[in-house]
Amino acid sequence: MIQDLHTHTYYSFDSTDRIERVIEAAIAGGVGLLGITDHSYGVGCGRTDVCYDKGPAPEANYGGMLLRYHDHVLTAAEKYRNKIKVLSGLEVCTLVSRDAYALPDSADVSFFDYVIVENLDVPDRSIARGDIFSFAKRCGCPTGIAHTDLFSFLAKRGESPAKYFRRMAEENIFWEINVNFDSIHGFRTFDYVTEFFRNKQQQEIVRQSGAKLSVGFDSHIIREYKPDRVKTANKLIRDMGIRLAFDGI
Ligand SMILES: [Zn+2]
Repeated sequence: MIQDLHTHTYYSFDSTDRIERVIEAAIAGGVGLLGITDHSYGVGCGRTDVCYDKGPAPEANYGGMLLRYHDHVLTAAEKYRNKIKVLSGLEVCTLVSRDAYALPDSADVSFFDYVIVENLDVPDRSIARGDIFSFAKRCGCPTGIAHTDLFSFLAKRGESPAKYFRRMAEENIFWEINVNFDSIHGFRTFDYVTEFFRNKQQQEIVRQSGAKLSVGFDSHIIREYKPDRVKTANKLIRDMGIRLAFDGI
């Protein structure tokens, strides 16, 4: 089954697409397993600008907003269940900065089907502090690492990729291969993805570790969705003998 586990809807600050529209585009593109993963701050702050540089307003019902979004995704999943399997996910921002806002400690995300975590590779400004294993426990649901050059991150830290990926396999943490190519991101591809598809040694490390990968287009503008990129990545990864997250559900 072709998967795309990274998409945005109007719950994110930087997308205006309805959940139903995103699901229909995935069905039309031949995707069989779709994850909706809006930005944690977009969902939690209810599309106001209070998250930027100040954090959520004191009256913001962050936890309630997460639940409301989750319910909406589940309702849409049910509506389309004969055509596609839809998972309710969240892209968790861990960065403390002027234009993004890290997930508050008090926010429960354990009821999501999964989360993908960003900013792992800026440990000094991320509440994950570069430790995905502890952060996944805090999330309390299946956890993936979003659009991160993991091999460079590990090289900088002097960590063994073989060991790290083995631990990811043991703790059920997956690594995203992000195949985005749209105007929001300047029509560029991620270098780490190009390198991974070229580098047989990296592929072998992941394959032997038993760790799973995920594929995500990271769509923000559905009319720029390119399902062929998603399909190609799914096929290349399977041909390597590497498993994909949620295979077999
Ligand atoms: Zn994203």
